[in-house]
Amino acid sequence: MVKEHQLKLHNSLSGNKETFVPINQEYVGMYVCGPTVYSNVHLGNVRTFMSFDMIYRYLRHLGYKVRYVRNITDVGHLLDDSDEDKISKKARLEQLEPMEIVQKYTVDFHEVLRKFNNIPPNVEPTATGHIVEQIEITQELIEKGLAYVSNGSVYFDVKKYNDQGGDYGVLSNRNIDELFANTRVLDGQDEKRNPQDFALWKQALPEHIMRWPSPWGDGFPGWHLECTVMSTKYLGEQFDIHGGGMDLKFPHHECEIAQAKGAYGHSPVTYWLHANMLTLNGQKMSKSTGNTILPEELMTGNNEFFDKGFSPMVIRFFMMQAHYRSMLDFSNDALLASEKGYSRLMEAVKTLENLQPSGSSSVDIKQWVAKCYAAMDDDFNTPILIAHLFDAVKMINSIKDQTETIHPDDLIRLNDVFKAMIVEVLGLKEEQMAGNEDKLDGVVKMLIEMRKQARVDKDWALSDQIRDQLAALGIVLNDGKEGTTYTF
Ligand code: AMP
Ligand code: ZN
Repeated sequence: MVKEHQLKLHNSLSGNKETFVPINQEYVGMYVCGPTVYSNVHLGNVRTFMSFDMIYRYLRHLGYKVRYVRNITDVGHLLDDSDEDKISKKARLEQLEPMEIVQKYTVDFHEVLRKFNNIPPNVEPTATGHIVEQIEITQELIEKGLAYVSNGSVYFDVKKYNDQGGDYGVLSNRNIDELFANTRVLDGQDEKRNPQDFALWKQALPEHIMRWPSPWGDGFPGWHLECTVMSTKYLGEQFDIHGGGMDLKFPHHECEIAQAKGAYGHSPVTYWLHANMLTLNGQKMSKSTGNTILPEELMTGNNEFFDKGFSPMVIRFFMMQAHYRSMLDFSNDALLASEKGYSRLMEAVKTLENLQPSGSSSVDIKQWVAKCYAAMDDDFNTPILIAHLFDAVKMINSIKDQTETIHPDDLIRLNDVFKAMIVEVLGLKEEQMAGNEDKLDGVVKMLIEMRKQARVDKDWALSDQIRDQLAALGIVLNDGKEGTTYTF
């Protein structure tokens, strides 16, 4: 049963906060664009995925049965100003199979998100697993006259789509006529009819390693197409929520809308949600500019920006202190403040467990609960929720000091909602747990180093002993080209 709620969310399509009405009552379909797995995820990526994790958690908390689909982009994401795919390039540079690159960074992505206590999606499809469907929809768009073949590649014809009643520009609020008027006319050398046209299928040059046969010759799919195909396959032609980082709004999501409307005749998504960027020293964290910090570097303190390491839960708490649609800047002072705030909150969880009720309440728990839900119902306003949680911390401490009193029924309600908001909705868990995971990681890495030294010293007995005893504890060492890693 879905709780009676007036959940409102900000829909990028209308630019307004709208009341959430799912297509199928208590079932919610939610698609979030996943990572391009050609390098380690940075904390900016983590913020976006964590924002949608919180949204997923709150919808579940309200009682919705959510099918959460988040893809893995393992082909098709082209480098800016180039015809080369990001994964192919990395594979060429590192002399690895593209699928080795994909596997390495998918594993990293999962490990990182697990550390931050993100719940995995219900379906995690890959672009390479859906080539057939991508070819099919490309054919359909060609048949409808909305795509054309050019030199072994296939492009979506944006002008034709709009001439036939399409609304390319609807999501990013771009005036398409102006866009056409202000861009240079192609010189005839280009494969595209107009600069706005985007690739559905790209011809693979002979040196391109990721390639599949198609009616237009060997090639690979364009990036925007995979999300249309996979969201439709697992959620239907029309579904409730589509999310991603703000930077994906244009052109990626704009193209998704055009492809789906072109192929199926209707708008695919009711609510488009966009999470804002994480900045470092005021600039967008981004792989291409090098202004990044990896989760591992922040946790260990091994980086040039921060004085010390911060645990995953402190980082999660820090991110939850900002609204998902606001920019957030990383700084040492802000993280130190979050560390203190986080411990105060977790201390209060423990204090609450030992609180003694009395005959009546001097505190208004009903009103407090209503405020917490009102904050979350207002487009998932976690900073306001956290402010209310700190009001509760004050109440809890006052009840402990006997300057306030609480009735047993109110105590149960306070306990339920306080913990549900912290654990279920914000996804925060006991610091101690998180701290110990990191310590264990440090110890296993130390043993891996000792084993490496033993092997250099040709002390095979010690090297085997370390490996076997770890295996007996369920920790398996994997020796690879890039050194030794471990799995539980
Ligand atoms: P990518 O792997 O580059 O496709 O990015 C994965 C997700 O991370 C996308 O939803 C991006 O919008 C998001 N993202 C990239 N950089 C940042 C950033 N600095 N802050 C927040 N989200 C980001
Ligand atoms: Zn996408």
